[in-house]
Amino acid sequence: QVLNDFLDLKGNIRVFCRIRPITVGESFGHFRPVVAFDSSNVLLRLSDNKSKSYSFDKVFQPGSSQDEVFSEVEPVIKSALDGYNACIFAYGQTGTGKTFTMEGTPDFPGVVPRAIEALFKQAVDSNHAFLFTFSMLEIYMGNLKDLLIPQPRKAMDPMPPCLSIQTHPKGGIEIDNLVAIQVSDFNQALRLYRLGCQSRSTASTNSNMNSSRSHSLIRLSITCFNAPERQRETNKVWFVDLGGSERVLKTKAWGRRFEEGKAINLALSALGDVINALQRKRFHVPYRNSKLTQVLKDSLGEGSKTLMLVHVSPKEEDLCETICSLNFATRAR
Ligand code: ADP
Ligand code: MG
Repeated sequence: QVLNDFLDLKGNIRVFCRIRPITVGESFGHFRPVVAFDSSNVLLRLSDNKSKSYSFDKVFQPGSSQDEVFSEVEPVIKSALDGYNACIFAYGQTGTGKTFTMEGTPDFPGVVPRAIEALFKQAVDSNHAFLFTFSMLEIYMGNLKDLLIPQPRKAMDPMPPCLSIQTHPKGGIEIDNLVAIQVSDFNQALRLYRLGCQSRSTASTNSNMNSSRSHSLIRLSITCFNAPERQRETNKVWFVDLGGSERVLKTKAWGRRFEEGKAINLALSALGDVINALQRKRFHVPYRNSKLTQVLKDSLGEGSKTLMLVHVSPKEEDLCETICSLNFATRAR
């Protein structure tokens, strides 16, 4: 309880760090370990014998399993059944394992499929009745796209229209026309999730867009409808696989790549500003600065739990990006 009070005082935002393992192809040749860690600290070995340390609510070392990660994420997700909104973010440079953490692979399923399964299981076991709906969208260059609407098969086919956001006077938000499909079990939800993932990769192939240049968002809405004291409130769990955080000026991108990078960097810094304002309990929280923060407005802040999973590479050549990511994470704490 004391611990809970302490965490509440700090705001409902946790920050975890996950360090990607070196892959088989990378392990040949010289490898200078630049990232050291224990269960809650990361130490970067910079040049000229300097080092810099960062602390987190939890650090997942390169060998950590999907199980280990999920067991730490699970309480945040399950709080949705107790009347909280929850947002789980995967942040980091492209290639550091954001999609591996969130989506996973068939052999190593990630947070999203595990979370959906755990939520359904807990809902069945509880003595309340819950109704689940599933939605999935993508934000690319500031445009919102529904991933449950079939994507055009050929590059020349017309694109479905973009979604727009409505803000209510009371502060809530609504995404106009976002498809929300009622799901009654894990397998139904999983099928929709696969469909959304499929449609994301089809769309990116057709438009020659790299899927790591967009943010993908999954929303599970949960309505509790037989608890009189809860008045049919609906809570939302968001799973967000953010666009790659690499600095656009350093990637030597030009043309559309440059614009994509700029859009992502803008959204990520807007997200950082919002989280920072919430952590410091500022009166003004700048939600309006990006589509990403507008969409998540009523799920970030009071009555919500937020978990930021910052992903970093263990490689020396990525050290600059690793520093940027850890600085971002530190601002969020
Ligand atoms: P991102 O989504 O951040 O661009 P990915 O999730 O696509 O990165 O990861 C890049 C590659 O590294 C993928 O082949 C992925 O399977 C692998 N990978 C990432 N993290 C891990 C991990 N913790 N364990 C094993 N393989 C990983
Ligand atoms: Mg990815």
